Amino acid sequence: MFDYQAPADLLKERVILVTGAGDGIGRAAALSFAGHGATVILLGRTISKLEKVYDDIEAAGGPQPAIVPLNLEGATAQDYASVADSIDENFGRLDGLLHNASIIGQRTPLAQFEPAVWQQVMQVNLTAPFLLTQAMIPLLRQSKDASVIFTSSSVGRKAKAYWGAYAVSKFGTEGLMQLTADELDEPSYSIRANSVNPGATRTSMRAFAYPAENPSDNPAPEDIMPVYLYLMGPDSKGVTGQAFDAQSRPPKAPTP
Ligand code: NDP
Repeated sequence: MFDYQAPADLLKERVILVTGAGDGIGRAAALSFAGHGATVILLGRTISKLEKVYDDIEAAGGPQPAIVPLNLEGATAQDYASVADSIDENFGRLDGLLHNASIIGQRTPLAQFEPAVWQQVMQVNLTAPFLLTQAMIPLLRQSKDASVIFTSSSVGRKAKAYWGAYAVSKFGTEGLMQLTADELDEPSYSIRANSVNPGATRTSMRAFAYPAENPSDNPAPEDIMPVYLYLMGPDSKGVTGQAFDAQSRPPKAPTP
C-alpha cells in the first residue's frame, strides 16, 4: 500500500468535490476526506446513495457536506456551469477535485464492440472529467493550494484485450491529467494534477469485471486511502503531472 500517515486535521478548511461519491472508492474517499476535516461536495447520479454518505459524514462528526445530483452521462456544459456557480456562491473556491466516477461498459473484443457503448464510456470516463475540470478552473484558482486527482487504471497504462473503451478512456485520462498539470502549473496559482491507479479494490465495479474472484482477496476502498489523502493535502504541494499507484503490490491477475 502507498505509505503515508495523514495527520487528523490534514484537510481542515478545504473544500473538496468528489464524483461518484455514493459508492465504492468515491464513497470511501468522501468519508476519509471529511474525517480529515474537509467539507466534501458529493456529486453523483443516485441521490439515495449520496444522502447515505451525507448522513454517515454527519454522524461521524465531520463538517456538513453538500450534495450535487448529476448524471455525468447526459450532463451538458451548462450543467457544469451551474455546479460551478453553486460552489462559488457557497464556498467561493475549490481546494480539491477527485474525478472518480467511471463505468466499464462492455468487456468485448473490438470487432464486436458496440459504438453506442463506446460513446457512453467515453462520455462518463473522459469527456465529463474534461468538462468538470474546465468549469472548476476559476474556482481552483481561488484556492491557496488546489489538487486535482484523476482516476486511472492499470489498463490505462498498458492496454489488455477486451477492455475496449474503458482502457482507451483511461489512457485519455492520463493525457488529460498531464495536460491539466502542465497548463495549470502557473506561477500565480498553486494547482497540481496527478492520477491514481487504485489497483484491484473490493467494489461493485471490480465484482462486475471479475465475477469469479473472491472479493475478500482485494483490499477494501478504505484501505487504499493513503495516496488520496497525500495528494489532497499540503504534503504533495509541488507534485504535479505524476501517475501514482494506490497499492504497492501489482494489481491482481484475472481469475480464469
Ligand atoms: P463503483 O462502480 O463501485 O462506483 C462508481 C461510482 O461512480 C458510483 O458511485 C456510480 O454511481 C458513479 N457513477 C457511474 N456512472 C456515473 C454517472 N453517469 N454519473 C454520475 N456518477 C456515476 O466503482 P469503483 O469505486 O470501483 O471505481 C472508482 C474509480 O476507480 C473508477 O474510476 C474506476 O475506473 C477506478 N478503478 C477501480 C478499480 C477497482 O478495482 N475497483 C481498479 C482500477 C480503477 P451509482 O452508485 O449511482 O452507480
